[in-house]
Amino acid sequence: NDTLAKVDPEIWQAIENENRRQEEHIELIASENYVSHAVMAAQGSQLTNKYAEGYPGKRYYGGCEHVDVAEQLAIDRLKKLFSAEAANVQANSGSQANQAVLMAFAKPGDTIMGMSLAEGGHLTHGMPLNMSGKWFNVVAYGLDQHEAIDYAKMEALAREHKPRILIAGASAYSLRIDFERFARVAKEVGAIFMVDMAHYAGLIAADCYPNPVPHADVVTSTTHKTLRGPRGGIILMKAEHEKAINSAVFPGLQGGPLMHVIAAKAVAFKEALKPSFAKYQEQVLANARVLSRVLSEERGMRIVSGRTESHVFLVDLRAKSITGKEAEAALGAAHITVNKNAIPNDPQKPFVTSGIRIGSPAMTTRGFTEIESEVVGHLIADVLDAPGDEKVLARVRADGAALCRKFPVYGGPAG
Ligand code: PLP
Repeated sequence: NDTLAKVDPEIWQAIENENRRQEEHIELIASENYVSHAVMAAQGSQLTNKYAEGYPGKRYYGGCEHVDVAEQLAIDRLKKLFSAEAANVQANSGSQANQAVLMAFAKPGDTIMGMSLAEGGHLTHGMPLNMSGKWFNVVAYGLDQHEAIDYAKMEALAREHKPRILIAGASAYSLRIDFERFARVAKEVGAIFMVDMAHYAGLIAADCYPNPVPHADVVTSTTHKTLRGPRGGIILMKAEHEKAINSAVFPGLQGGPLMHVIAAKAVAFKEALKPSFAKYQEQVLANARVLSRVLSEERGMRIVSGRTESHVFLVDLRAKSITGKEAEAALGAAHITVNKNAIPNDPQKPFVTSGIRIGSPAMTTRGFTEIESEVVGHLIADVLDAPGDEKVLARVRADGAALCRKFPVYGGPAG
């Protein structure tokens, strides 16, 4: 029969190898997670065959009655999850969700304000090489001397430059963001207030992090990070902005929506509405706290911003005389996956950096608790103390492999 393994053994092998890597390596990339079998089943379904330009009940193609059900379920569940007035589930990625907001509310040349990439922001918030930085006049805010968001400076910049859109949200910021404070200044200067909650969405859904939805005009997110859904984007908004956002997504930016992904988003939102998801997010927080405590208090490393109040934190490696790039490679050789990440005022280039970013969502999904987090923290520190020592790397690999065997992710062949 025409199984993937028979039709295309090379691709099947790549998938199976990746499946094995995910089972056997400790995953600490803060923006990654493992979806459920149910989410994968929806994404790998016949819905991939369907064109459905438009929105439920208002399509430009026939035969949409069943995909309409899937998309409406995704919208309704998403609104419930975050107490939102309106939702769009069609954005193909977090970046496209952000582009849609820019398209809906600003024209090229208008001023937008976001957190600087070098201090924790995302490239779609105005980085010079990104469309957001090329097409708009960008004013960036950053961190204060304690490595917390410099709210006073952000407010002063907003009053001075009066941006069309004020963006809050980050990719590498461990503390809670004061969304109310952003909202107040946005209102004062007449800006649209957009929050990109991509990193924190799962925590927010579980009441483990402040919910920006009551305070923002629009809230964008990815669905594949802490929220533990398929790769994709979403936009929540006040009802008054629904028309502008929907038309920016389609026909503004996209053609046919990915109905199989939208169905998988609906499944993930159903999972996120369950009490077990709140327990999971509490464990994500607890595990991140243990990792940062072990690395700082027990192994003498500096955590950027001093601590974590979320799923993520940055480690400043300068005292260890190892770059982020070298640390990522050494940890990778020990089967621990992290990404190099710039720290505030990083003396190294962006492709080298002086930091690594560590996140707890994926390892928590496979069942790690505080006990395993403590072990993982020491394994990381052991590698960073002796990145060139093959014996240490081999021991860490073996200890990590034992943990991974005890907590399988999918526990079987790919598919
Ligand atoms: N927004 C934030 C805050 C992110 O961290 C990311 C991804 O890293 C994105 C948006 C972009 O999402 P995507 O990779 O789906 O385009």
